[in-house]
Amino acid sequence: MQTIKAAVCREFNAPLVIEEVQLADPKMGEVEVTLDAVAICHSDISYAGGAWGGNLPAVYGHEAAGVITATGKGSGDFIIGDPVVVTLIRACGSCPSCASGTPTICETPYNTAKGPLRTADGEPLDQGMACGAFAEKVVVSHRQIVKIPKTMAKDVASLLSCGVITGVGAVVNAAQLRPGQDVVVIGAGGVGLNAIQGARIAGARRIVAVDMIEDKLEVAKEFGATHGVLASLDAPWKAAYKALGGRGADAVLVTVGAIPAYEQATRYLGPGGKAIMIGMPHSGATASYEPVIMAAVGQGLIGSKMGDVVIQRDIPWMIDLYEQGRLKLDELISGRWELDQINEAIADTKTGSAKRNVILFNR
Ligand SMILES: [Zn+2]
Ligand SMILES: [Zn+2]
Repeated sequence: MQTIKAAVCREFNAPLVIEEVQLADPKMGEVEVTLDAVAICHSDISYAGGAWGGNLPAVYGHEAAGVITATGKGSGDFIIGDPVVVTLIRACGSCPSCASGTPTICETPYNTAKGPLRTADGEPLDQGMACGAFAEKVVVSHRQIVKIPKTMAKDVASLLSCGVITGVGAVVNAAQLRPGQDVVVIGAGGVGLNAIQGARIAGARRIVAVDMIEDKLEVAKEFGATHGVLASLDAPWKAAYKALGGRGADAVLVTVGAIPAYEQATRYLGPGGKAIMIGMPHSGATASYEPVIMAAVGQGLIGSKMGDVVIQRDIPWMIDLYEQGRLKLDELISGRWELDQINEAIADTKTGSAKRNVILFNR
Protein backbone atom coordinates (compact mmCIF):
# COMPACT_ATOMS: atom_id res chain seq x y z
CA MET A 1 0.00 0.00 0.00
CA GLN A 2 1.26 3.49 -0.87
CA THR A 3 -0.06 7.03 -1.06
CA ILE A 4 -0.40 8.70 -4.47
CA LYS A 5 -2.04 11.82 -5.85
CA ALA A 6 -5.24 11.38 -7.87
CA ALA A 7 -8.11 13.42 -9.33
CA VAL A 8 -11.20 12.06 -7.56
CA CYS A 9 -14.84 12.39 -8.66
CA ARG A 10 -16.81 12.81 -5.41
CA GLU A 11 -20.03 14.11 -6.98
CA PHE A 12 -21.38 13.85 -10.55
CA ASN A 13 -21.26 17.11 -12.51
CA ALA A 14 -18.82 18.69 -10.06
CA PRO A 15 -15.10 19.46 -10.49
CA LEU A 16 -12.70 16.58 -9.77
CA VAL A 17 -10.82 16.93 -6.48
CA ILE A 18 -7.05 16.45 -6.34
CA GLU A 19 -6.36 14.39 -3.23
CA GLU A 20 -4.03 11.82 -1.75
CA VAL A 21 -5.37 8.27 -2.11
CA GLN A 22 -4.11 4.80 -1.27
CA LEU A 23 -3.00 2.32 -3.93
CA ALA A 24 -2.57 -1.38 -3.12
CA ASP A 25 0.42 -3.39 -4.33
CA PRO A 26 -0.11 -5.53 -7.45
CA LYS A 27 -1.71 -8.91 -6.79
CA MET A 28 -1.54 -12.12 -8.84
CA GLY A 29 -1.48 -11.22 -12.56
CA GLU A 30 -1.25 -7.48 -11.91
CA VAL A 31 1.37 -4.81 -12.48
CA GLU A 32 1.95 -1.32 -11.11
CA VAL A 33 2.52 1.32 -13.78
CA THR A 34 3.90 4.75 -12.86
CA LEU A 35 2.24 7.05 -15.36
CA ASP A 36 3.87 9.64 -17.60
CA ALA A 37 0.73 10.63 -19.48
CA VAL A 38 -3.03 10.17 -19.48
CA ALA A 39 -5.33 11.58 -22.16
CA ILE A 40 -8.82 12.86 -21.42
CA CYS A 41 -11.52 10.95 -23.30
CA HIS A 42 -15.21 11.84 -23.67
CA SER A 43 -16.02 8.65 -21.75
CA ASP A 44 -14.28 10.10 -18.69
CA ILE A 45 -16.43 13.21 -19.05
CA SER A 46 -19.61 11.14 -19.49
CA TYR A 47 -18.83 9.15 -16.34
CA ALA A 48 -18.00 12.28 -14.32
CA GLY A 49 -21.26 13.79 -15.56
CA GLY A 50 -23.25 10.80 -14.30
CA ALA A 51 -24.33 9.62 -17.79
CA TRP A 52 -23.71 5.97 -16.98
CA GLY A 53 -24.08 5.90 -13.18
CA GLY A 54 -21.55 3.89 -11.16
CA ASN A 55 -20.00 4.09 -7.70
CA LEU A 56 -18.68 7.28 -6.11
CA PRO A 57 -16.13 8.38 -5.15
CA ALA A 58 -14.24 7.21 -8.22
CA VAL A 59 -11.03 7.85 -10.13
CA TYR A 60 -11.55 7.89 -13.92
CA GLY A 61 -8.90 8.11 -16.65
CA HIS A 62 -8.17 5.24 -19.01
CA GLU A 63 -5.87 6.37 -21.85
CA ALA A 64 -2.51 6.11 -20.17
CA ALA A 65 1.14 5.35 -20.75
CA GLY A 66 4.01 4.89 -18.32
CA VAL A 67 6.63 2.52 -16.99
CA ILE A 68 6.17 -0.67 -14.96
CA THR A 69 7.46 -0.10 -11.43
CA ALA A 70 6.25 -3.30 -9.70
CA THR A 71 4.89 -6.68 -10.79
CA GLY A 72 2.76 -9.28 -9.04
CA LYS A 73 3.28 -13.01 -9.56
CA GLY A 74 2.03 -14.38 -12.89
CA SER A 75 2.20 -11.13 -14.80
CA GLY A 76 3.47 -12.64 -18.04
CA ASP A 77 6.81 -11.54 -19.43
CA PHE A 78 6.48 -7.97 -18.18
CA ILE A 79 9.36 -6.70 -16.06
CA ILE A 80 10.08 -3.57 -14.04
CA GLY A 81 11.24 -0.80 -16.38
CA ASP A 82 9.08 -1.84 -19.37
CA PRO A 83 7.37 1.16 -21.02
CA VAL A 84 3.71 0.31 -21.66
CA VAL A 85 0.33 1.67 -22.65
CA VAL A 86 -2.54 0.94 -20.24
CA THR A 87 -6.00 0.21 -21.66
CA LEU A 88 -9.38 -0.37 -20.01
CA ILE A 89 -9.72 -3.79 -21.66
CA ARG A 90 -9.39 -6.03 -18.61
CA ALA A 91 -10.00 -9.40 -20.28
CA CYS A 92 -9.92 -12.74 -18.45
CA GLY A 93 -8.56 -14.63 -21.44
CA SER A 94 -10.81 -17.69 -21.03
CA CYS A 95 -14.53 -16.76 -21.16
CA PRO A 96 -16.45 -17.50 -24.42
CA SER A 97 -15.86 -13.95 -25.76
CA CYS A 98 -12.14 -13.94 -24.94
CA ALA A 99 -11.78 -17.46 -26.32
CA SER A 100 -13.43 -16.44 -29.60
CA GLY A 101 -11.10 -13.49 -30.11
CA THR A 102 -13.19 -10.58 -28.82
CA PRO A 103 -11.66 -9.71 -25.44
CA THR A 104 -13.26 -6.23 -25.59
CA ILE A 105 -16.54 -7.90 -24.56
CA CYS A 106 -15.02 -10.16 -21.88
CA GLU A 107 -17.82 -11.76 -19.87
CA THR A 108 -15.97 -12.19 -16.56
CA PRO A 109 -17.06 -9.40 -14.22
CA TYR A 110 -14.44 -7.28 -12.48
CA ASN A 111 -15.54 -5.39 -9.38
CA THR A 112 -14.00 -1.92 -9.67
CA ALA A 113 -15.19 -1.08 -6.13
CA LYS A 114 -12.90 -3.83 -4.83
CA GLY A 115 -9.94 -2.73 -6.96
CA PRO A 116 -6.62 -1.40 -5.66
CA LEU A 117 -7.82 2.11 -4.70
CA ARG A 118 -8.93 3.44 -1.29
CA THR A 119 -9.40 7.00 -0.06
CA ALA A 120 -6.86 8.41 2.42
CA ASP A 121 -9.30 7.35 5.19
CA GLY A 122 -9.40 3.80 3.86
CA GLU A 123 -12.93 4.11 2.43
CA PRO A 124 -13.84 2.39 -0.88
CA LEU A 125 -12.68 4.30 -3.97
CA ASP A 126 -13.86 3.03 -7.35
CA GLN A 127 -11.20 2.18 -9.96
CA GLY A 128 -13.09 3.78 -12.86
CA MET A 129 -13.07 1.70 -16.06
CA ALA A 130 -10.71 -0.79 -14.38
CA CYS A 131 -7.93 1.81 -14.73
CA GLY A 132 -8.19 4.83 -12.43
CA ALA A 133 -5.55 6.60 -14.48
CA PHE A 134 -6.20 10.21 -13.41
CA ALA A 135 -3.53 9.36 -10.84
CA GLU A 136 0.24 9.14 -10.56
CA LYS A 137 0.17 5.33 -10.65
CA VAL A 138 -2.23 2.50 -11.56
CA VAL A 139 -2.39 -1.16 -10.62
CA VAL A 140 -3.95 -3.14 -13.47
CA SER A 141 -4.04 -6.62 -14.99
CA HIS A 142 -1.08 -7.49 -17.21
CA ARG A 143 -3.69 -8.39 -19.87
CA GLN A 144 -4.69 -4.74 -20.26
CA ILE A 145 -1.20 -3.40 -21.03
CA VAL A 146 1.05 -3.58 -24.10
CA LYS A 147 4.78 -2.87 -24.33
CA ILE A 148 5.86 0.09 -26.44
CA PRO A 149 9.29 1.13 -27.77
CA LYS A 150 11.47 2.95 -25.22
CA THR A 151 11.92 5.74 -27.76
CA MET A 152 8.20 6.44 -28.14
CA ALA A 153 6.92 9.60 -26.39
CA LYS A 154 4.38 8.66 -23.71
CA ASP A 155 1.91 11.45 -24.47
CA VAL A 156 1.66 10.18 -28.03
CA ALA A 157 1.56 6.55 -26.90
CA SER A 158 -1.29 7.17 -24.45
CA LEU A 159 -3.60 7.92 -27.38
CA LEU A 160 -3.27 4.30 -28.52
CA SER A 161 -5.11 3.16 -25.38
CA CYS A 162 -8.59 4.19 -26.50
CA GLY A 163 -9.38 6.75 -29.21
CA VAL A 164 -6.98 5.39 -31.81
CA ILE A 165 -7.71 1.69 -31.34
CA THR A 166 -11.44 2.39 -31.22
CA GLY A 167 -11.49 4.35 -34.48
CA VAL A 168 -9.02 2.35 -36.53
CA GLY A 169 -10.22 -0.96 -35.04
CA ALA A 170 -13.86 -0.24 -35.93
CA VAL A 171 -12.88 0.09 -39.59
CA VAL A 172 -10.71 -3.02 -39.88
CA ASN A 173 -12.30 -5.32 -37.28
CA ALA A 174 -15.99 -4.32 -37.12
CA ALA A 175 -16.69 -2.96 -40.62
CA GLN A 176 -14.03 -5.25 -42.14
CA LEU A 177 -13.60 -2.66 -44.84
CA ARG A 178 -12.15 -3.87 -48.14
CA PRO A 179 -9.92 -1.71 -50.36
CA GLY A 180 -12.03 0.32 -52.78
CA GLN A 181 -15.10 0.61 -50.56
CA ASP A 182 -16.74 3.92 -49.67
CA VAL A 183 -16.97 5.14 -46.07
CA VAL A 184 -18.95 7.79 -44.19
CA VAL A 185 -17.71 8.80 -40.74
CA ILE A 186 -20.22 10.71 -38.60
CA GLY A 187 -18.37 12.89 -36.09
CA ALA A 188 -14.85 14.19 -36.68
CA GLY A 189 -13.76 14.18 -33.02
CA GLY A 190 -11.09 12.08 -31.33
CA VAL A 191 -12.54 8.72 -32.42
CA GLY A 192 -13.89 10.00 -35.74
CA LEU A 193 -10.49 11.26 -36.92
CA ASN A 194 -9.09 7.82 -36.18
CA ALA A 195 -11.90 6.08 -38.05
CA ILE A 196 -11.05 8.38 -40.96
CA GLN A 197 -7.35 7.54 -40.90
CA GLY A 198 -8.25 3.87 -40.38
CA ALA A 199 -10.33 4.00 -43.56
CA ARG A 200 -7.44 5.63 -45.41
CA ILE A 201 -5.02 2.96 -44.18
CA ALA A 202 -7.52 0.22 -45.13
CA GLY A 203 -7.62 1.52 -48.71
CA ALA A 204 -11.04 3.19 -48.82
CA ARG A 205 -12.00 4.74 -52.15
CA ARG A 206 -13.82 7.81 -50.79
CA ILE A 207 -14.11 8.93 -47.17
CA VAL A 208 -16.86 11.40 -46.29
CA ALA A 209 -16.60 13.16 -42.91
CA VAL A 210 -19.87 14.48 -41.42
CA ASP A 211 -19.77 16.98 -38.55
CA MET A 212 -21.69 19.94 -37.16
CA ILE A 213 -18.59 22.17 -37.21
CA GLU A 214 -16.98 23.34 -40.43
CA ASP A 215 -13.47 23.61 -38.91
CA LYS A 216 -13.57 19.95 -37.90
CA LEU A 217 -14.29 18.97 -41.51
CA GLU A 218 -11.06 20.70 -42.49
CA VAL A 219 -9.13 18.80 -39.81
CA ALA A 220 -10.81 15.60 -41.04
CA LYS A 221 -9.30 16.18 -44.48
CA GLU A 222 -5.83 16.32 -42.92
CA PHE A 223 -6.50 12.82 -41.57
CA GLY A 224 -7.65 11.42 -44.89
CA ALA A 225 -11.26 12.47 -45.49
CA THR A 226 -11.81 13.11 -49.20
CA HIS A 227 -15.04 15.05 -48.66
CA GLY A 228 -16.72 16.94 -45.82
CA VAL A 229 -20.46 17.32 -45.22
CA LEU A 230 -22.03 19.66 -42.66
CA ALA A 231 -24.40 17.69 -40.43
CA SER A 232 -26.56 20.79 -40.02
CA LEU A 233 -27.71 20.57 -43.67
CA ASP A 234 -31.36 19.64 -44.25
CA ALA A 235 -30.67 16.12 -45.51
CA PRO A 236 -26.92 15.75 -45.14
CA TRP A 237 -26.94 12.21 -46.57
CA LYS A 238 -27.89 13.68 -49.96
CA ALA A 239 -24.62 15.63 -49.99
CA ALA A 240 -22.83 12.42 -49.08
CA TYR A 241 -24.47 10.52 -51.99
CA LYS A 242 -23.23 13.22 -54.29
CA ALA A 243 -19.69 12.84 -52.98
CA LEU A 244 -19.99 9.07 -53.40
CA GLY A 245 -21.07 9.22 -57.04
CA GLY A 246 -24.80 8.88 -56.34
CA ARG A 247 -24.68 5.77 -54.19
CA GLY A 248 -24.69 5.26 -50.43
CA ALA A 249 -21.66 4.08 -48.46
CA ASP A 250 -20.44 0.54 -47.84
CA ALA A 251 -19.77 1.45 -44.22
CA VAL A 252 -21.05 4.25 -42.01
CA LEU A 253 -19.25 4.71 -38.70
CA VAL A 254 -21.12 6.62 -35.99
CA THR A 255 -18.48 8.00 -33.63
CA VAL A 256 -20.62 10.40 -31.59
CA GLY A 257 -23.10 9.73 -28.79
CA ALA A 258 -25.95 11.86 -30.19
CA ILE A 259 -29.14 9.88 -30.94
CA PRO A 260 -30.01 11.79 -34.17
CA ALA A 261 -26.70 10.60 -35.59
CA TYR A 262 -27.76 6.97 -34.94
CA GLU A 263 -31.21 7.50 -36.44
CA GLN A 264 -29.70 9.06 -39.57
CA ALA A 265 -26.82 6.62 -39.94
CA THR A 266 -28.70 4.13 -42.13
CA ARG A 267 -29.74 6.93 -44.53
CA TYR A 268 -26.12 7.15 -45.64
CA LEU A 269 -25.88 3.43 -46.46
CA GLY A 270 -25.85 1.88 -49.90
CA PRO A 271 -27.25 -1.60 -50.62
CA GLY A 272 -25.42 -4.19 -48.53
CA GLY A 273 -23.85 -1.47 -46.38
CA LYS A 274 -23.19 -1.70 -42.66
CA ALA A 275 -23.65 0.95 -39.99
CA ILE A 276 -21.16 0.59 -37.14
CA MET A 277 -22.21 2.04 -33.78
CA ILE A 278 -19.14 3.23 -31.87
CA GLY A 279 -20.18 6.31 -29.89
CA MET A 280 -21.76 5.80 -26.51
CA PRO A 281 -25.13 7.54 -25.91
CA HIS A 282 -26.48 7.93 -22.38
CA SER A 283 -27.95 4.83 -20.75
CA GLY A 284 -31.66 4.50 -21.57
CA ALA A 285 -31.49 6.49 -24.83
CA THR A 286 -33.23 4.74 -27.76
CA ALA A 287 -33.14 5.14 -31.55
CA SER A 288 -35.55 3.93 -34.24
CA TYR A 289 -35.04 2.44 -37.73
CA GLU A 290 -37.15 1.29 -40.65
CA PRO A 291 -36.37 -2.45 -40.64
CA VAL A 292 -38.08 -3.17 -43.97
CA ILE A 293 -35.52 -1.07 -45.85
CA MET A 294 -32.62 -2.75 -44.11
CA ALA A 295 -34.09 -6.19 -44.85
CA ALA A 296 -34.89 -5.36 -48.48
CA VAL A 297 -31.38 -4.19 -49.36
CA GLY A 298 -29.39 -6.34 -46.96
CA GLN A 299 -28.04 -3.67 -44.66
CA GLY A 300 -26.52 -4.30 -41.25
CA LEU A 301 -26.34 -2.58 -37.90
CA ILE A 302 -23.34 -3.53 -35.77
CA GLY A 303 -22.18 -2.43 -32.34
CA SER A 304 -18.43 -2.16 -31.81
CA LYS A 305 -16.71 -1.78 -28.46
CA MET A 306 -13.15 -0.42 -28.39
CA GLY A 307 -12.76 -1.23 -32.09
CA ASP A 308 -13.10 -4.97 -31.35
CA VAL A 309 -9.34 -4.91 -30.87
CA VAL A 310 -7.02 -7.56 -29.56
CA ILE A 311 -4.56 -5.13 -27.99
CA GLN A 312 -1.59 -7.51 -28.14
CA ARG A 313 -2.17 -7.87 -31.92
CA ASP A 314 -3.41 -4.42 -32.93
CA ILE A 315 -1.37 -1.94 -30.83
CA PRO A 316 2.05 -3.18 -32.07
CA TRP A 317 0.66 -2.89 -35.65
CA MET A 318 -0.44 0.68 -35.01
CA ILE A 319 2.94 1.57 -33.46
CA ASP A 320 4.61 0.37 -36.67
CA LEU A 321 2.18 2.44 -38.75
CA TYR A 322 3.03 5.48 -36.61
CA GLU A 323 6.77 4.93 -36.92
CA GLN A 324 6.40 4.53 -40.69
CA GLY A 325 4.55 7.85 -40.87
CA ARG A 326 1.25 6.19 -41.90
CA LEU A 327 -0.72 6.83 -38.68
CA LYS A 328 -0.99 10.36 -37.28
CA LEU A 329 -0.68 10.58 -33.50
CA ASP A 330 1.23 13.79 -32.71
CA GLU A 331 -1.39 15.72 -34.66
CA LEU A 332 -4.15 14.38 -32.37
CA ILE A 333 -2.87 16.26 -29.30
CA SER A 334 -4.37 19.70 -28.77
CA GLY A 335 -2.95 20.54 -25.34
CA ARG A 336 -0.68 19.34 -22.52
CA TRP A 337 -1.61 19.95 -18.88
CA GLU A 338 -0.55 19.12 -15.29
CA LEU A 339 -2.73 16.92 -13.06
CA ASP A 340 -3.60 20.00 -10.96
CA GLN A 341 -5.10 21.58 -14.09
CA ILE A 342 -7.34 18.63 -14.92
CA ASN A 343 -10.63 20.51 -14.51
CA GLU A 344 -9.45 23.17 -16.95
CA ALA A 345 -8.32 20.47 -19.37
CA ILE A 346 -11.74 18.79 -19.10
CA ALA A 347 -13.51 22.12 -19.67
CA ASP A 348 -11.38 22.64 -22.77
CA THR A 349 -12.29 19.17 -24.07
CA LYS A 350 -15.98 19.91 -23.50
CA THR A 351 -15.82 22.87 -25.86
CA GLY A 352 -15.93 20.30 -28.65
CA SER A 353 -12.30 20.44 -29.71
CA ALA A 354 -11.59 17.68 -32.20
CA LYS A 355 -8.45 16.51 -30.50
CA ARG A 356 -7.11 15.19 -27.23
CA ASN A 357 -5.90 17.00 -24.12
CA VAL A 358 -3.17 15.06 -22.32
CA ILE A 359 -2.18 15.26 -18.65
CA LEU A 360 1.58 14.90 -18.10
CA PHE A 361 3.02 13.79 -14.77
CA ASN A 362 6.23 15.19 -13.31
CA ARG A 363 8.84 12.48 -12.91
ZN1 LIG B 1 -11.79 6.43 -23.99
ZN1 LIG C 1 -13.04 -12.97 -20.79
